[in-house]
Order: sequence, then structure tokens, then C-alpha cells
Amino acid sequence: MSLFSAVEMAPRDPILGLNEQYNADTNPNKVNLGVGVYFDDNGKLPLLQCVQAAEKTMMATPTARGYLPIDGIVAYDNAVKALVFGAESDVVKSGRVSTVQAIGGTGGLKIGADFLKKVSPNAKVLISDPSWENHRAIFVNAGFEVSSYAYYDAEKRGVNFDGMLASLNAAAAGTIVVLHACCHNPTGYDITDAQWDQVIAVVKAKSLTAFLDMAYQGFGHGIAEDGAVIGKFVAAGLNIFVSTSFSKSFSLYGERVGALSVVASDKEEASRVLSQLKIAIRTNYSNPPIHGGAVVAAVLNNPELRAQWEQELAEMRVRIKAMRQKLVDSLKAAGVKQDMSFITTQIGMFSYSGLTKDQMVRLRSEFGVYGTDTGRMCVAALNSKNIDYVCASIAKVI
Ligand code: PMP
Repeated sequence: MSLFSAVEMAPRDPILGLNEQYNADTNPNKVNLGVGVYFDDNGKLPLLQCVQAAEKTMMATPTARGYLPIDGIVAYDNAVKALVFGAESDVVKSGRVSTVQAIGGTGGLKIGADFLKKVSPNAKVLISDPSWENHRAIFVNAGFEVSSYAYYDAEKRGVNFDGMLASLNAAAAGTIVVLHACCHNPTGYDITDAQWDQVIAVVKAKSLTAFLDMAYQGFGHGIAEDGAVIGKFVAAGLNIFVSTSFSKSFSLYGERVGALSVVASDKEEASRVLSQLKIAIRTNYSNPPIHGGAVVAAVLNNPELRAQWEQELAEMRVRIKAMRQKLVDSLKAAGVKQDMSFITTQIGMFSYSGLTKDQMVRLRSEFGVYGTDTGRMCVAALNSKNIDYVCASIAKVI
């Protein structure tokens, strides 16, 4: 008998499974709106100019590759702190933030989850309903019981904010609440500034632990605008967790560049927290890889490259917004009678289209237009060449 004879086949990752199906599809008009990846108007994955410039400089003086410190490149960690909390913020200046380089945003979540399991072993975790698929799995694998808080209201086409508040109010003290800092994945619906204030008040009153997942900073309203929510939590005097991903904002998906930041109550506490984050990293993968972090640090810490990055990120953000408007207009032109203008009230890379599972299956099988069964479509994969076809296809199934 084999050691593995009782090993069960794990379910396929829903998104990656969709990709395989897309790759095998022979329809010449096929469009992949499944994965959360930004493509330019030519349907190409961008290689940002700022990244190319940083790499060129790096290649001009080749360096040997020793191990990085466990918490990563110092200049990178400091740049992340400045980006997320503000370089001149009290919380950074007073040494209350511990930031570690992580393997993508996923790595930041995982390191944070492992650390939290030590700090609050009996805490429950709440994720939004619905949420990014991996949130549940990451916290379950770290040993937590995970349930959800109300979020999406299909009928209203927006956030069930009363439900969300009620879920948070009903949570036991110490519950870890995973919040999407901006550009909610998968729905595309964010809460307003005033609603964030209410969430923060409940988090504080009920002694909940906020874990803010910031995978799309700069894709909503702007880098500083999207980051402002973090400042609100800090101003409320809360000890928070923030995971950062540069996968989308630097188009560096495969380099796995991310971070975890934890806000402690004072400098001494922050150094104890950092020592434990290092244990979590050391026992998972020892220390992070160099290249992606070095590129991002080089860009963020150089005023010219930084300005170029901001410009390129703004172009991505503006193009997605234009695609949202075009989607609404072209669906109307294609004969869709129902009001689809809610698509422009959504933000970030995704749209919950409101299409049913049956409609999504028909879109795939009859037209080669791939989105998830939940009706999620990646607006960032639409372009001036494929959008009319996508709209004509949607019009036929709706
Ligand atoms: N959180 C959310 C909400 C995401 O959508 C993603 C990426 N799709 C991540 C985290 C993970 O990012 P990364 O690819 O950098 O690990």
C-alpha cells in the first residue's frame, strides 16, 4: 500500500481552473475576464517603465546574492511604511510600526495569521461575504475558525452596511476582522468614508482586531486616497495589521512582492512584535527573495522613478474607469434594457455583474467570454478591441 493511497484529490482552484478552460478554448474571439490581472489596451500584461528603468540601473552594477535579513530589505520595509502610513506620520516616526517584506500580499496575510495564532489562539476570524477566495483558506490553515460578516447586497447592488455593522457588533471581543482596505474583491463595492468611521467605532468598542488587506492601493481613487483608511484606524489608537501587495500596482505578479505591517502601542512593543514576525518568517521560508523587493524599493525611494510609477499607476486606474463607462454604454447600445450603470459605482479591478451562474456558463460555452460563476468579471482585462464583443455576448445571455 502506498503512503498516499488515502490522499484525496483536492478541488481545483476555481480561478486557475477557469484559466485552464480558457487556454483550451479554440474560439478565436475568446476573452478572459476570470483572473484578477490588469492588461493594457492591447491586451498585454504591462512591464512598467519605472520597473524597467530600475532594473537597468541594477543590472549595470551586478551584485552577488547573499541572504536577506529575515524581515527583508530595510529600504523596502521603510518605503512600505511611508507608503501605507505616511513618512511623516507620528505612528512611523515614533517607531510603532513593524513592517516585514513578504512573499506577495498572500505572504503578508499568512505571516500575520501565524503571528495572530500565537497572540490570540482562541480568536475567531471574520471575512466578508463574499471575499477573496484565499482569505478563508489562509486563516483556516493557520488554525482559525473562520466565518463571515454580511457585505454584499445583491438586490441593492451595493453593500449591506447595516448587516455588516450588525455582524461586527455581534462578534466576540478579540475577533479578527479581515477588511478590504479598498477595491473590494470580488464585488467592486467599497464602503464610504463615513461608514469606515462607523466600522472603526465598532472595532474599538468591541475590542476587535482589524486586519486590513491592501492589495489594490492606487487602483481606487489614488495612492494617498486609498491609503487614508489606514490613517483612520491609526488615529483611533487601534493595533492593526496591514498586508500590502505590489503585484498589481507594479505589475510584478510573479516576483511576489508584498509586506505585512503591524501597529503596536509603543516602540518597545513594536520591537517585540517584530521579533515574533521574524520567527513566523523564519519557520515558513527563512527569508524573502531579493529581486522584486529591490526593484520596488528602488522605485519608491527615487523621486524620478517614483513620479513615473505614480503616473503609470494613474494610467491603469483611469483606463479601468474608462472601461467601466464603456461597458455601461456598450451594453446599452447592444440592446440590454436593464440599467447597468451600477458598474460605474464599483471601484478597482472587478465588477460583480449581477449575472447568474447559468448566464456565466452560457457566456463561456457559447461565446468564449470567461468570468467566474459568481458573475465576477475583471474590468481590467477589457480593452477597446474586445469590449464590443463582450457586450454583444452579454446582451445575448441576459
Ligand atoms: N488580497 C486580495 C483581496 C487579492 O485580491 C489578492 C490578489 N488577487 C491578494 C490579497 C494577494 O496578492 P498577491 O498576489 O500579492 O499575493
